[in-house]
Amino acid sequence: MAKHTIVLVPGDGIGPEVSAAARRVIEAAGLSVEWVELPAGAAAVEQGLENVLPQRTLAAILAHKVALKGPVTTPIGKGFQSVNVQLRKKLNLYAAVRPAHTLGGVKTRFDNVDIVVIRENTEGLYSGLEQEVVPGVVTSLKVATEVACTRIARFAFRYATRNHRKKITVLHKANIMKMSDGLLLTCARRIYEAEYPNIEYEEMIIDAGVMRLVQDPTRFDVLLTENMYGDVVSDLCAGLVGGLGVVPGSNIGDDAAVFEAVHGSAPDIAGKGVANPLALIMSGVLMLQHIHEETLARRIESAYQQVLLEGKTLTRDLGGQAGTQQFADAIIAKMR
Ligand code: ATP
Repeated sequence: MAKHTIVLVPGDGIGPEVSAAARRVIEAAGLSVEWVELPAGAAAVEQGLENVLPQRTLAAILAHKVALKGPVTTPIGKGFQSVNVQLRKKLNLYAAVRPAHTLGGVKTRFDNVDIVVIRENTEGLYSGLEQEVVPGVVTSLKVATEVACTRIARFAFRYATRNHRKKITVLHKANIMKMSDGLLLTCARRIYEAEYPNIEYEEMIIDAGVMRLVQDPTRFDVLLTENMYGDVVSDLCAGLVGGLGVVPGSNIGDDAAVFEAVHGSAPDIAGKGVANPLALIMSGVLMLQHIHEETLARRIESAYQQVLLEGKTLTRDLGGQAGTQQFADAIIAKMR
């Protein structure tokens, strides 16, 4: 097996704990890997670096093309721009892909949920263009461009085709934001009609969409949406399948891909060794698929599925008592 070089950003809060666990599981699966460990977020500032997103971290991800990243915190009130937003913009990681599916052994309200949220990752209300027009009046600019809307729509249809998905639902609010959300619809329809007429396509106003998601999530397949709605809807979908501890994520661009859990740095449980590492381990599985190590990906998937089904070694968020590393050890034991 060729040796892979992968950038590892441990992150802040529970980041170092869950990334240590994910790293051990990936190595135990048999990946031949050299990790290039680099900081971002509060960890970078603590190390006295110039920026929350150091140049050498960015350069390494671009050079090696793939990173596994723990959650990072952006220090508040020091004029730092969000690390995640910067990373996505600077590396042009324009598509966030967040699968949420039912896991055997994890108790939830619904069975058979299998949804992939595809979120535009570079514009919308995350433009960072805010200003105080006059004292007491602030504007926040929502940006939509034809290039980014077309790019994310094409990505979603390509993803659906490659992953044998049947339907794309675009969640939008074009009845109010006729131009910005309207542009995403125009671009999505164009791609659907011209390039992917065999995928089922529907449009749904976001408020009705989230209601239907909580009533019957099984009717949904791939959700395509802009940045802000994607942020909210992917947490909602996480809630449908067991919470933030069990959903992975990836940020994909043409030049690099960064794999990370949907959850944040969870400062409330940081350093206690109780965080669930599964979301980052699952993100590692997506990473292995991305680098064409499908056999190893399946090995890890099968191992954590067995651990969940047995229900003996679960973290607190899943109703158990196990610590972060103990849970990782249980997964590793299933791969021996
Ligand atoms: P941030 O500001 O970095 O987003 P946050 O606490 O606002 O942090 P999350 O980190 O997403 O947001 O956490 C939301 C809730 O979910 C917290 O109560 C946290 O403890 C819990 N949580 C998040 N990730 C995990 C995990 N991996 N294992 C267990 N609980 C988690």
